[in-house]
Amino acid sequence: ARLANQIAAGEVVERPASVVKELIENSLDAGASRIEIDIEKGGAKLIRIRDNGQGIAKDELALALSRHATSKVSTLEDLESIMSLGFRGEALASISSVARLTLTSKPAAQSEAWQAMAQGRDMDVKLVPASHPTGTTLEVQDLFFNTPARRKFMRTDKTEFGHIDEVVRRIALSRFDVDWVLRHNGKQVRQYRAARLPSQQDKRLSAICGSAFMQAALKVECEHNGLRLWGWWVLPSGARAQPDVQYTYVNGRMMRDKLLNHAIRQAYGERLAPDTHGAFVLYLELDPAEVDVNVHPAKHEVRFQQARLVHDFIYQVLAQALEQAIS
Ligand code: ADP
Ligand code: MG
Repeated sequence: ARLANQIAAGEVVERPASVVKELIENSLDAGASRIEIDIEKGGAKLIRIRDNGQGIAKDELALALSRHATSKVSTLEDLESIMSLGFRGEALASISSVARLTLTSKPAAQSEAWQAMAQGRDMDVKLVPASHPTGTTLEVQDLFFNTPARRKFMRTDKTEFGHIDEVVRRIALSRFDVDWVLRHNGKQVRQYRAARLPSQQDKRLSAICGSAFMQAALKVECEHNGLRLWGWWVLPSGARAQPDVQYTYVNGRMMRDKLLNHAIRQAYGERLAPDTHGAFVLYLELDPAEVDVNVHPAKHEVRFQQARLVHDFIYQVLAQALEQAIS
């Protein structure tokens, strides 16, 4: 079982940041409103994610660590209307095959917390009583300790932490309603407080994307035929302000999709200087049945049922906003 999981881990677990992404997504799927992330040595030594989500019942702890165990999809219909971030049941099994994974959890309805860890060649799960408020803590220690080839690909702590920081920024931009704390080597590096009012959202946006982006950004929002696009978009004149701010989300998932990027690029048209790419934080929302998120294992790409329609909608909303802003 361990070998199969290690092979699968190659797809899910590239580097510490990919572990952080999977674990955060699990916390969000569990309905957490507060997520604390502790990193030691760029994640090579420790990745600890603590949430206040729904928790995992004692008799489901062992199952959560096994491959293809997901509590999120039980029918084919589910798979088509999927709104949760995870659905393959691969992440925890993959991670526990290349690191020492400890899972501590308490659901609200259970009076005591339990801790599980997978051990030995057969990955037998050992359960011990623990102390923990309602929610879950995942600890990943010594990532790639048993796969030296993979460990060699890890960069400096600073670089790996930079990737983690980026993952947290991107996800924090998709969940304004969640409190985030990120620490590195015991020191708090980021804190994004839950933001419900638009003014608080602007504050988070500014903290994550920079004040230059905020100043140059145009707020857009449009809904038509079941498609909704909203977010912030920097005019061509401000595109140099934050060239690396290019975040797109589809139904709350961060995506780097060719079709989306193409539509955005086309809306900028000739106005964008050749060496700039624009800057944006844009959210597309549509009926989940209209999107297939199962295209890529890392879940960065989507396939739209009506690709042309989606493309033209995005292009038109942005092109119109641009016309209005510069006229
Ligand atoms: P997936 O997210 O694709 O279902 P994972 O391997 O990431 O698969 O997680 C396996 C299962 O463990 C999940 O389906 C969920 O039931 C449980 N789980 C993992 N992390 C958490 C968490 N932070 N809170 C509650 N349940 C969790
Ligand atoms: Mg998951």
